[in-house]
Amino acid sequence: MMTPPPPPPPEITLVCIPVAANYTPIKGSQIVVCMQCMEPVWFSPSSQALRGNIHVLCGDCAGIQVMLQTLAGDPPQFGGILPNQSEELKAALDETNEETKDNDSSQPNPHPH
Ligand SMILES: [Zn+2]
Repeated sequence: MMTPPPPPPPEITLVCIPVAANYTPIKGSQIVVCMQCMEPVWFSPSSQALRGNIHVLCGDCAGIQVMLQTLAGDPPQFGGILPNQSEELKAALDETNEETKDNDSSQPNPHPH
């Protein structure tokens, strides 16, 4: 029985939140470094589950990368958010909202739209 050769690993660029951003990491997140500037960033469990050739960038370097590629006439394609990742982001946002409520209960809450 013939086994087909495995496909090459996909190239995945992940934009990670810097540890210095004072952000509460998702449970199980690991600290890795941005491959451009060596800034420590959070690497979430859904990202750890990815298989492929993973490039980790902080938000700043990702922004620069997008700008450079756009200037070069080759804007990057974004694959969208993974199902797990949107759940994690939602959980993180919920936590942030609750913290804001607790800390700033006297402040009016402007609508973000
Ligand atoms: Zn960076």
